[in-house]
Parts: sequence; C-alpha cells; structure tokens
Amino acid sequence: MLGATIGSFLNVCIDRLPEKRSIILPPSSCSNCKKLLTAKDLIPIFSYLWLRGRCRYCRSTIPGRVLIVEIISAAMFPFLFWMYGLGLEQTIVTLYFCFFIVIIFIDLEHHLILNKLIYPGAIIAILFSALLSPLEIIPGIATAATGGGIGLGLFVLIVVLSRGGMGWGDVKMAALIGLIVGYPLIFVALLLAVISGGILAVILLVTKTKGRKQHVAFGPFLALGTMATILWGESILNWYIGYF
Ligand SMILES: [Zn+2]
Repeated sequence: MLGATIGSFLNVCIDRLPEKRSIILPPSSCSNCKKLLTAKDLIPIFSYLWLRGRCRYCRSTIPGRVLIVEIISAAMFPFLFWMYGLGLEQTIVTLYFCFFIVIIFIDLEHHLILNKLIYPGAIIAILFSALLSPLEIIPGIATAATGGGIGLGLFVLIVVLSRGGMGWGDVKMAALIGLIVGYPLIFVALLLAVISGGILAVILLVTKTKGRKQHVAFGPFLALGTMATILWGESILNWYIGYF
C-alpha cells in the first residue's frame, strides 16, 4: 500500500516536473476539466480501475501510465524488502529506484532527462558516498568519482562520435550512474544498458516500428541497467571475471 501511494506521488512528479510545476501544490486535479480530485479519486490503482481510466467528472481518459507506475511501485516495495530486509540499505535502494522510475517515464514521454533530477541526484549520491560508504551498496568516494569520470568520459566520446545519436542528458545520466554504482560496476551498468537498448533497437528496426533515423530514448535503458547493477552487479561481474 505504501508502494502504491508513493507510486501516485511519482506520477505527480512525472506529470509536473517537465512542465516546471510544483510537485507539492496545488493538489491533483483533472488535466482536462481542472476539477479538483477528491479522496475517492486518489486511491492508488483502485481509483483508476474503478473509473476505467477516465475522469469521474468529464470522462476524459487518464493516461495508462498512471496505473502502470502505481503497480510497478506497489510491486517494487515488497520486492526490495525481500531483497534487503528492512533498514538503511533497503531505504536507499528504494529511493534510487523511485528516482529512476521518474527518469524513465519522463524520458519516454518527453525525450528529456531533466537537470533538476540529475543534479540533485548527483549531490545525493556524493553525500551517500561521503557518509554511508561502509554500506555494501554505496561506493566509497574515490570509487564513486572514478565511476562518474568513466561514465562521463565514455559518453562524451559516444556523443562526439555518433553526432547526435545520443544527447547530453544521456551523458549527465551516465556520469550520475557512475557516482551511484562506482568503479568497476559502472561498466556493468553501461554494458547492460547498451546491450538491452541495442536488442530493442534491432527489434524495432526489424518489425519496422521505428525507422533508422528515429529517436529511441536511451535514458530508460541506462536507468534499467543501473537498477539491475544495484541488485545483481557484483554477481554479474564475478560471473564475467570467472570466464577468464
Ligand atoms: Zn476531468
């Protein structure tokens, strides 16, 4: 229930941050008829299902993403509790995952990775490294800085070489995930992002869903690669090193 409720808040962030609106005030209203939503319109997951994805007052459609984010968030909380138990580690991973959900859906809908998410994210990651690096999931400050530098350097190179295939938002995002996972896990995160993004690009090309010149947002792959790395990065790295 907490996860679904936080999911509702993440939807508010996804709706409002790209429009430069406050995520605190005003309270939620229908984006079409502007009618203020009451408590019975705001029950996560259930309100959407009960109203069949339409506004109670003007019947305009509510984006399906609202339901998807609430369900993902509702499933994520018990999953991370199962992975980490209750505690600081679980809280930090949950925080990071909420952050990435917002990044993913804003990039999917607007092809934007917002500075007002990346910069505070970087500051928080550095603070975590400075204060909490004894925790297994938090890299030390030197490791984090190395990871950030590698992410930044590699993606500047990619942007310059690909001439527009990748945006500066992706560069900043690559640097940020370097700060979050550190060295050497940054390589795992980037590799997972490139492999999953590449596979989807091939599928889209083969099925002709997208043309060669059309843009596919890369932020979601960076985010998913990082989430997988936070969860299983060490095992993936050990498995890979074990090959040699
Ligand atoms: Zn309405």
